Amino acid sequence: MTESEPRTSGEKEPPVNKYEGKLPPLNIFLHWCKGCNICIAFCPQKVLEPDRDGKPILAHPEKCTQCAICWLHCPDFAITSNYK
Ligand code: SF4
Ligand code: SF4
Repeated sequence: MTESEPRTSGEKEPPVNKYEGKLPPLNIFLHWCKGCNICIAFCPQKVLEPDRDGKPILAHPEKCTQCAICWLHCPDFAITSNYK
């Protein structure tokens, strides 16, 4: 086991992830997803990024505003919200 680096007084605190320890903002059903990238392209907050297969991953869940654009535009109904 390695010791973590001590935080110096001038160092910035890491950004707060409001979903930490809670449900993630979205469920993405990858077996329904065809990797069209519509959700990635339309997300105004750039929450989603493509994995190696071009399917979306929640790269920045803390930025999700639950605006619904991704799940309303997914042609395969592969995205649902955990909060709406
Ligand atoms: S709900 Fe809106 S902000 Fe959240 S991932 Fe979907 S498009 Fe992006
Ligand atoms: S819009 Fe739907 S089918 Fe297209 S990449 Fe996103 S989750 Fe997959």
